[in-house]
Amino acid sequence: MTLLELESVTASYGPVQVLDGVSLSVPEGGAVGILGANGAGKTTTLRAISGTVRAGGRILFDGSDIRGKRPDQVAALGIAHVPEGRGTFGALTVRENLRVGAYLRRDRKQIESDIDFLLELFPNLEERFKSNASALSGGEQQMLAVGRAFMAKPRLLLLDEASLGLAPSTAKTVYDAIAELRRESGIAMLVVEQNANLAFRLVDSATVLETGRSVLSGTSAELRGMDEIRRAYLGG
Ligand code: ATP
Repeated sequence: MTLLELESVTASYGPVQVLDGVSLSVPEGGAVGILGANGAGKTTTLRAISGTVRAGGRILFDGSDIRGKRPDQVAALGIAHVPEGRGTFGALTVRENLRVGAYLRRDRKQIESDIDFLLELFPNLEERFKSNASALSGGEQQMLAVGRAFMAKPRLLLLDEASLGLAPSTAKTVYDAIAELRRESGIAMLVVEQNANLAFRLVDSATVLETGRSVLSGTSAELRGMDEIRRAYLGG
């Protein structure tokens, strides 16, 4: 079943149109990538979904059009956004950051067991449980950002460029940890990533954006096999 469907989504910053027909769909429990060069509109697509940018077209979540909803309303429907640059609270500990992620929940016992589950998956965070987020490495902060979003118990996670600023080997570790979280939790994911090889560690399929438009989509295997994709996004 389709969880999220974008149909000809458009968006502008003032007079400048940056999305000009983005269409994609994410199945229940699936993971889909948004690939494309710098400035193609990947981040803006996530913002259109989470309600931080005004959009045209249709954005269907679980069958209803959520376009035009406020960010807090979108979050309450079960869509969590991990923005580029992570957005963890540096002055709070790892534990406190995870609790903040669960602020809309009242099921205290389940919250604690979700935290335990997360720390089993992300052992680095377990070691740093009482540290302030600002003391974590970049990779640890990224995992914490994902963990915090997970604590909201979303049905869909929007993940923006989780590799930003990380060394290549750290970025791989982070993507593999997120893939494990996906397998264990069944949360659907829409993943923006400039480095297609990294994205393919996590996603089953992807859409390529070019100047605000979806130009191509396919399974990870199909896209990997395409020369033009390899040249543009896989470095060779
Ligand atoms: P990147 O990987 O660089 O973030 P992207 O594919 O995510 O690229 P977007 O961030 O969605 O691209 O940006 C799409 C276009 O919109 C770019 O030309 C960018 O300069 C422009 N843009 C982004 N944010 C704003 C803003 N707040 N105001 C005006 N223009 C913006």
